[in-house]
Amino acid sequence: MEKTLELRSLGNTGLKLSCVGFGASPLGSVFGPVSDEEAIATVREAFRLGINFFDTSPYYGGTLSEKVLGKSLKAVGVPRDQFIVSTKCGRYKDGFDFSATRVTQSIDESLERLQLDYVDILQCHDIEFGSLDQIINETIPALQKLKEKGKIRFIGITGLPLGIFNYVLDRVPLGTIDVILSYCHYGINDTTLEDLLPYLKSKGVGVISASPLSMGLLTENGPPDWHPASSELKAACRKAADFCKEKGKDISKLAMKYSLCNKDFSSILVGMKSVQQVQDNVAAAMEVMKGEKDDEILVEIEEILKPVKNQTWPSGIQ
Ligand code: NAD
Repeated sequence: MEKTLELRSLGNTGLKLSCVGFGASPLGSVFGPVSDEEAIATVREAFRLGINFFDTSPYYGGTLSEKVLGKSLKAVGVPRDQFIVSTKCGRYKDGFDFSATRVTQSIDESLERLQLDYVDILQCHDIEFGSLDQIINETIPALQKLKEKGKIRFIGITGLPLGIFNYVLDRVPLGTIDVILSYCHYGINDTTLEDLLPYLKSKGVGVISASPLSMGLLTENGPPDWHPASSELKAACRKAADFCKEKGKDISKLAMKYSLCNKDFSSILVGMKSVQQVQDNVAAAMEVMKGEKDDEILVEIEEILKPVKNQTWPSGIQ
């Protein structure tokens, strides 16, 4: 396969992200065990096929994802200016802490685990679990100091409920937050992030859409035990996956293509833990770039998923 994966601009950052982003939570063994050898081979294949964007967090696998990603990046040995790394702060194995002290300490720990001098993006992780006013008044200003020190280049926020993004972006000066990462809100079963795009554009914010496979719901193997979806949503996705299999189609490929078609998202961040998954997800992007569509089967899948369309789950302080 040629190295021609599409690059897309991320808001006003000047960064150009590969349209398929490498979600590194699986490298923390959260979707089943992954050896160092498998991780290194997966990251190597990602680079070979044109993926330049890697996302992790100290939370994934209780720091394991950052360690394994760092080891893999070092082993592959691509020059630092040719890839983009984002990690997060505020969410840890032992709970949430968005205080200036903790996030300032946390980036140094992340850099050490990642074996890097700086990260391109540092994001406040799942802010609906903290006080949004603390994020605005304490966490973001702390991240701005890290930016001045050169430890991070850009600032982001992540979380599940879409209302958190308006709340924070309405209360910080324009240009303070460079990027938002939303997950499980732009895929075949849930498209609600689309409604927020005009607002996010008006704020000049880059948008990363994560979990195009709804954290495993849109895969033949199904979701992990910890998946928070209702049994109704899980059953509907199972039915859709089985239907695709009967028709000789892979639901994950259809789901990747669906998300990739909307070019307002700078990167579709998918969790990967094997060379095969990298190849399959890049192949999906190549089909999109060639204009190969799946309209007929999509209509049927959307019909199966209609009763659960846009169904989500609670997240954060209720
Ligand atoms: P996902 O929807 O990307 O699904 C990942 C699962 O699908 C894993 O089990 C993976 O092994 C499997 N998979 C990947 N490609 C496949 C293919 N072609 N065929 C079959 N199975 C395939 O969910 P995710 O990993 O949770 O999300 C992607 C990334 O986005 C994460 O790794 C993380 O970096 C980021 N993320 C961030 C937040 C946040 O900040 N709050 C939340 C969710 C995800």
